[in-house]
Amino acid sequence: MKDQFTRTIDYIRISLTDKCNLRCLYCMPQDDEQPEWNEDVLTSEELITLCRHFADVGIKKIKLTGGEPLLRKDIVWLVKELYAIKGIEDITLTTNGMLLDEKVEALYESGIRHINVSLDTIHEEEFYKITRRKGVDKVIQGIHHALQLGMHVKLNVVPMRLNEQHIMELLVFAKDYPIHIRFIEMMPIGLGKDIPGIPQEEMMHKIETMYGKLQPVHDQIGYGPSVYYHVEGFKGHIGFISALSHKFCSSCNRVRLTSDGFLKGCLQYNKGIHLKEIVRSKDEALLKEKIMEAIYRKPKAHAFEEEDVEHVENREQKLMSGIGG
Ligand code: SAM
Ligand code: SF4
Repeated sequence: MKDQFTRTIDYIRISLTDKCNLRCLYCMPQDDEQPEWNEDVLTSEELITLCRHFADVGIKKIKLTGGEPLLRKDIVWLVKELYAIKGIEDITLTTNGMLLDEKVEALYESGIRHINVSLDTIHEEEFYKITRRKGVDKVIQGIHHALQLGMHVKLNVVPMRLNEQHIMELLVFAKDYPIHIRFIEMMPIGLGKDIPGIPQEEMMHKIETMYGKLQPVHDQIGYGPSVYYHVEGFKGHIGFISALSHKFCSSCNRVRLTSDGFLKGCLQYNKGIHLKEIVRSKDEALLKEKIMEAIYRKPKAHAFEEEDVEHVENREQKLMSGIGG
């Protein structure tokens, strides 16, 4: 369906849990400042009911996210059930990769063919500094395992001053393997607002200095806002998702569902509709009405560029892990 600004909304990001087995410093606090976990999350049956309604109003693609979606015990069963819904064409997931190696075969069997792995460095020490956990080898192993199965892998990297020293080494994934690597500009959400990111133009300059001209790729890749470039000799492309410096709200096609059933139109605002109680009441007509209302009212644009981002009206207070980034 279309929202109030006539944008077609056909993509939903669903957070399966707020919990995570990493503690990326731009996304989650340290262990001793742990947020209260939201334990009363939607059951998989409730998610399936909701997704049936989402498909009815034109949602075609689902991205499973979190927190860490692979912590959800019934994810494989859930994916199979979601694929059985008429109208759902593609289900992908975004993971930190820590459990990928052990779960990827079951995920493949469930129908998953595209995964995004978030990885900001391949150096164990730097990985620990950023995620406050060890395990970069496990992530890399998971990526290779997914490739061996024939999955399409995209790598998500948040460029920061913190990982700047070794950031170019990540390009090896796009150079030697058919992996698209996407640099995601740091957004001033949750803890991210206090961590200096590297802007797109600076990253482009670094890459061109090392590998030569970045040539724009005109084909549409995936459903998202990433703008892709090709470097001669590379097997994968290089993408940029730059919500601040290259704002893409006018063509935004997505809504988000938090793990406790809040359907929201934009990352930055706490505006949306709580669906958990409605889905539990089994009032399907009301559920459909509220879903359509939340989608229709999707806000026009974020205001990340505002200097006083903390005082933007209706600002989202949740951490990125709680929204489902
Ligand atoms: N745990 C999974 C993962 O890391 O892929 C899924 C959830 S995580 C919140 C989704 C993505 O959001 C990750 O790629 C992460 O790097 C990104 N992210 C988190 N906080 C961010 C911020 N403030 N700005 C930009 N990207 C952010
Ligand atoms: Fe966990 Fe992903 Fe947030 Fe890192 S970015 S803390 S892996 S939810």
